[in-house]
Amino acid sequence: MSLIAIENLSAGYGEIGVLFDVSMRVEAGEVVSIIGANGAGKSSLLKAMSGLIRPTAGTITFNGENITQLPADEIVERGLVHVPEGRRLFSLMTVYENLEMGAFSKHAQKDFKKNLEDVHKLFPRLAERGKQLAGTLSGGEQQMVAIGRGIMSSPKVMMFDEPSLGLAPVLKKDIFAAVKRIAVEYGTTIVLVEQDVMNSLAISDRAYVMEQGQIVIEGTAQELLKDPHIKEAYLGV
Ligand code: ATP
Repeated sequence: MSLIAIENLSAGYGEIGVLFDVSMRVEAGEVVSIIGANGAGKSSLLKAMSGLIRPTAGTITFNGENITQLPADEIVERGLVHVPEGRRLFSLMTVYENLEMGAFSKHAQKDFKKNLEDVHKLFPRLAERGKQLAGTLSGGEQQMVAIGRGIMSSPKVMMFDEPSLGLAPVLKKDIFAAVKRIAVEYGTTIVLVEQDVMNSLAISDRAYVMEQGQIVIEGTAQELLKDPHIKEAYLGV
């Protein structure tokens, strides 16, 4: 049984459909990328999985349970945690207070101390800057807090929406390395939405390519790196 199974999912905003008949699977422990151009529907797919938009058709099964119509907080409670695009920090709160905000679910409260240690091990900078207001951090540091806040929720699966967006190349590398460490060291399953196709395939087991709200290609990261359409459309080679 797959950890996540999405079958024939459609969703949108009001009258406007943006996801059409999407099917995808994620196995426990995998790193799976979703790649595609601006507006392809990648963020919307993550939003549907985390209960932020309501599917109009299809099902999402997590850990054997149908979660298609569950409220967002109950989806987090089950361990499916979304690290949204644009970081969405509380800029007038400190780093530590932002991390605390991730720990609202019951088992996250129980694991608070261990999760905080994990965050500080992954990003020692956040331990040094616990009292700094989040709004005064650099872009890369803010992304560390957004990822750290996700870890504080005791995730089984972390879904990242464009974690490297807007960062300088060296900081991008750090963020991709951190995502990989979360998978390898904590056994967390990862769903990664990215426009940096090369770096995301480099840390992924498998990937799905979305175009206009549909999955058009799927394969192992190795296969996709060799695929002529991917090379031309997404890798610029
Ligand atoms: P990007 O990388 O630019 O974020 P994406 O692949 O994540 O792109 P989505 O953000 O999921 O794509 O957008 C898919 C489509 O849904 C787009 O046409 C977009 O305009 C539309 N859309 C996204 N959010 C909303 C919203 N809140 N209301 C109406 N339409 C929306």
